Amino acid sequence: MEYDRNNVFARILRGELPCKKVFEDEHALAFHDINPLAPVHVLVVPKGEYVSNADFSARAPDALVVGFWRAVGTTAKMLGLEPDGYRLVANHGPNGGQLVFHFHVHIFGGRQMSHRMG
Ligand code: C5P
Repeated sequence: MEYDRNNVFARILRGELPCKKVFEDEHALAFHDINPLAPVHVLVVPKGEYVSNADFSARAPDALVVGFWRAVGTTAKMLGLEPDGYRLVANHGPNGGQLVFHFHVHIFGGRQMSHRMG
């Protein structure tokens, strides 16, 4: 699938749509999900045009991959999710239930997660 430059997260990254920002640096932007599925539900989005994890992990420069994952860790810490813990999810493609085709990671926290898959 080709990257759509007008997807909602691209528009948030360009400042065309608002978001409730948690963290931002040169590699990533983290903001609260508009439809939270847990007491804490934050999305971390890399700054670059990547459709999915497959695309990001294959094409992104090493510095961006490292910077993105550091941003995920920093965001979780800033949200107060350490030491209790949290869950990371990245939906990939149709079977993964991906809705927004700009790679992103969900951080879920603030409650005990079960092992069941939705
Ligand atoms: O399945 P996928 O990980 O692609 O889901 C996209 C997520 O983006 C959903 O949890 C949805 O609530 C969130 N979203 C958002 N802000 C928007 C549009 C979608 O937080 N403007």
